[in-house]
Amino acid sequence: MPASRSEPRAVVIGAGIGGLTAAVALHQQGWHVTVLERAPAVEAVGAGLGLTPNSLRALDVIGLGDTLRPMRTWTDEGGLRTPSGRWLSRTNQAAAAARFGGPFVPVHRATLISLLLSRLPGEAVRTGTPATVADPGGPDRPARVRSDAEEWEAELAVAADGIHSPARSVLFPGSPAPRYAGFTAWRLVVPAPDVAYPPHETWGRGTLWGTQPLHDGRVYAYAAAAVPAGERAPEGEHAELRRRFGTWHQPVPAILDAAGPDDILRNDVHQAAEPLPAFHRGRVAVLGDAAHAMPPTLGQGGNQAVEDGVVLAHHAAPQADVPQALAAYTRDRLPRTSEVVRRAVRVSRLITLTSAPACALRDALMATAGRAGPHLALRALDGIADWSPPGEHDAAATPHGGTGGR
Ligand SMILES: Cc1cc2nc3c(=O)[nH]c(=O)nc-3n(C[C@H](O)[C@H](O)[C@H](O)COP(=O)(O)OP(=O)(O)OC[C@H]3O[C@@H](n4cnc5c(N)ncnc54)[C@H](O)[C@@H]3O)c2cc1C
Repeated sequence: MPASRSEPRAVVIGAGIGGLTAAVALHQQGWHVTVLERAPAVEAVGAGLGLTPNSLRALDVIGLGDTLRPMRTWTDEGGLRTPSGRWLSRTNQAAAAARFGGPFVPVHRATLISLLLSRLPGEAVRTGTPATVADPGGPDRPARVRSDAEEWEAELAVAADGIHSPARSVLFPGSPAPRYAGFTAWRLVVPAPDVAYPPHETWGRGTLWGTQPLHDGRVYAYAAAAVPAGERAPEGEHAELRRRFGTWHQPVPAILDAAGPDDILRNDVHQAAEPLPAFHRGRVAVLGDAAHAMPPTLGQGGNQAVEDGVVLAHHAAPQADVPQALAAYTRDRLPRTSEVVRRAVRVSRLITLTSAPACALRDALMATAGRAGPHLALRALDGIADWSPPGEHDAAATPHGGTGGR
């Protein structure tokens, strides 16, 4: 179906965090945007998501940063603990803001998705429409995107179809699919328990638990364990969490008491086997998990997808030469996200250690590093959370000048 309108047409495959951010940013640039989503509805799936100052500055570009920042909950101390509750390293929101030029804001994924949807025209999102790239297009021909029943021509297409991206295998057939990262993850959002719960991440032997309060009186918790891919708990995931974490420090047992079996999401974690050769082909940009799947150990998968969407729209103005704009997008995003993936994988190696001596050594080193200088957990995000988007927002938004962006 050729575009029959004066605005150039952009078609986005996937209405996740990355696809919707790109859609909003492109719409605000003057593109006629259609988002094709496989699911029957853009649902409140997922759990919590820690927005970091880098993505909040990207969200400023599309007018959402200041809506989200007041949702920050974490004001006092938080940090890294052992299962008995001993602190290995502490930090606080003021230190985070001073280091990165803004707060950390844990939100429910559904909150971010509905804010993004609210910035798009109602007819922009087509649900129940699995799609893929039929032709990536080129300098003299549009891209073509196809679903079972329909085909769209577009001056720009965006593959934002997530970790198992069908579009990625069409665009880069020689590139290996993401591989198992060596651990499985559980996520849950429950009413806040009636115990003190400073935000924390707690590392055990091949296991991890994290707790983040949300602004609406609920709490987001996540857990991980190094197990073979595909393993599922015969007694159910709630029982499995109790078995693994029920004796850990508070608020872990209280959160498990507040949870029911239906509150728990479990996913095996996958990561890019190697960087893609480019984040575009022809007139199609690839972004988010489709481009650079990473373990959630730095909490950056969604944050990087937001950055991708805003940087893509920065380069791809409606009057731009699209193939050239996409080459600039690849130049901006591929090195940065490859580095974030590499660092997230490095942290994964620490949390998947299972031998007692290795974990004791790890904890001793963390405690020493934590004593030598506070804010160990923040240091892991140096060069990541201090990023600013390209363009006029750099100067306004970043007291640190943004080290990782361009
Ligand atoms: C345990 C865990 C904890 C995490 N914690 C954090 C965190 O704290 N901070 C953070 O930033 N990130 C976190 N992440 C990562 C984050 O969730 C992802 O990186 C992020 O959701 C990627 O967004 P996306 O838009 O690329 O993909 P997705 O959110 O997966 O969206 C892809 C969309 O495409 C749709 N789709 C797929 N195929 C098709 C098709 N053929 N046609 C049409 N639509 C299609 C899907 O239905 C989906 O809606 C975590 C991940 C896990 C597993």
